[in-house]
Amino acid sequence: MEAQPYTDDTVLLWGPHKFTRVSRIPVDYLLSLNKGNTHDKPLLAYIQANKEKLDAIARGETPAPQASKACDKKLFITQEEAKKELKRIRKLHQKKTKPKREYECPKCGGWHLTSLSLDEWERKLRSFK
Ligand SMILES: [Zn+2]
Repeated sequence: MEAQPYTDDTVLLWGPHKFTRVSRIPVDYLLSLNKGNTHDKPLLAYIQANKEKLDAIARGETPAPQASKACDKKLFITQEEAKKELKRIRKLHQKKTKPKREYECPKCGGWHLTSLSLDEWERKLRSFK
């Protein structure tokens, strides 16, 4: 399987910053990887593409991105986990509104469940901007 290139929102799946979005990982750590400490080629490509920005943050010239606030919704690390939970909930007999679908959270980079339809959701997203 060909690895996907990293973006700011890619969640690292190994190492001391496992489950952290790349843009939230301390730059010192990323820059240390760039010295040949990782075999994660897509991550290296990301670091090299953002080298100037990372160096500027390391020198204190650019503020580091703020650590994301923890979401109060139940967090799933992968889409598969969220889908599994969705399936489980569908089988339950409960009167309150059940979640309809999973979505990738723009705040924490994880996955949550929502009872909003895609249309309702897009409207909500637009209202944030
Ligand atoms: Zn979230």
